[in-house]
Amino acid sequence: MGADLGITNYIHTSKNLSVDTLDLSDEYDRYAREQRKLARKEHGSNNWEKQRQQVARAKRKIKRKVEDFQHKLTTWLVKKYDVVAVEDLDVKPMLETSQNAKSKQDAAWSRFIELLEYKGELHGTHVETVEPRGTTKECSVCGVETAKPIWVREHSCPACGHKEDRDLNAAKNILTRGLRQLGLGQSESTPVQTALPTFTPHREAVDAKRVVEAGSPGA
Ligand SMILES: [Zn+2]
Repeated sequence: MGADLGITNYIHTSKNLSVDTLDLSDEYDRYAREQRKLARKEHGSNNWEKQRQQVARAKRKIKRKVEDFQHKLTTWLVKKYDVVAVEDLDVKPMLETSQNAKSKQDAAWSRFIELLEYKGELHGTHVETVEPRGTTKECSVCGVETAKPIWVREHSCPACGHKEDRDLNAAKNILTRGLRQLGLGQSESTPVQTALPTFTPHREAVDAKRVVEAGSPGA
């Protein structure tokens, strides 16, 4: 399974399943409200101290909700799939959003990968972080790259005519890269449930051999 980090969806998988961003609007509203109340108190007074604790409580609630969500999501992923490929954060190009939103998103994604890798080890699931460059541009069918602005939600390949959701196309590319890193073939339909090889550095020869095997009659 390949997962694309989305802006509208928290993740979008190569099985065309998207998981919505956690809705924290009520929690953030409350946090803002408690902060406004705090601003009206006399700094250092008893009431101010009481209110400061309310602010801290509202903030903790948000943090706990995010953590709970990430735990559930990563557990579900490693239980369901044998291979989970995600984009590596360190080299992910800038999202077209404010610097602040970007660093928040980065922190969340970084924690998500950390949890995923940890749970992957517990459940024997291969968690592969892949080079994120070009995953959105590349066609998951023919590999031809087409630039698309961020608001274009559909991938439409001028080379082979393949059309699908932008995030789904990206997720498939991420999966392909993850499987290639594992020395496995590139097809979504390649069965990977059994006898996964232990991680070996990617070599072209491995791929070529698999292509020959897959293409030979009676194989
Ligand atoms: Zn194409």
